[in-house]
Amino acid sequence: RFISFEGIDGAGKSTQIAAIATWFRERGDEVVLTREPGGSALAEELRALVLNRPMDSLTELLLMFAGRRDHLQTRIVPALAGGKTVLCDRFTDSSFAYQGGGRGLPLAMLDALADWVQDGTEPELTFWFDLPPDLAAARRAGAREADRIEAQQLDFFDRVRAGFAARAEQAPQRVVRIDASVTPDDVWTQIEAVLQRRYPA
Ligand code: C5P
Repeated sequence: RFISFEGIDGAGKSTQIAAIATWFRERGDEVVLTREPGGSALAEELRALVLNRPMDSLTELLLMFAGRRDHLQTRIVPALAGGKTVLCDRFTDSSFAYQGGGRGLPLAMLDALADWVQDGTEPELTFWFDLPPDLAAARRAGAREADRIEAQQLDFFDRVRAGFAARAEQAPQRVVRIDASVTPDDVWTQIEAVLQRRYPA
């Protein structure tokens, strides 16, 4: 099975993904933990370029999807074929949210790339960790610096959040919204309920 995790920076995904990996391993699954941008040797090199070099939005988008193609071909598809559980920290919904919502690239372009690159491989379940951007920014910066966060940055994350919301609306069966504004324990309670419902013992 293929499960992805989405949300704006500071949503607290990493902690929960580790707990979800443990949940599946305790049930006897072989779990592959991976991430995007990155996840394969080539895609990790592309990640370093995308995150560190200034470039225009379309170049960024194309590199993201080039990395995704390699990641799918070399890791995700083989793992799924081997019956493993693949947990991926960010996937195509992040492209729609960041490059589409955040940077304003046309969604038709994203749809076309997703079709070509994924060739039918899609997460069966996506956890969307949702919280207001100001709260996420405060978590990232540490409470002390929270009041210095720029309005421009909050605007960007508002658009990214709206991008995730649109994806959730389009695929309500696949995308489960998790309220990530609460304590880590309360986030886990929501996740565990979803896992128990979707994957009964
Ligand atoms: O989730 P992670 O911290 O690994 O993401 C790395 C960075 O890449 C984040 O700052 C995220 O905002 C950005 N990103 C992006 N476009 C994507 C995926 C991630 O700008 N499609």
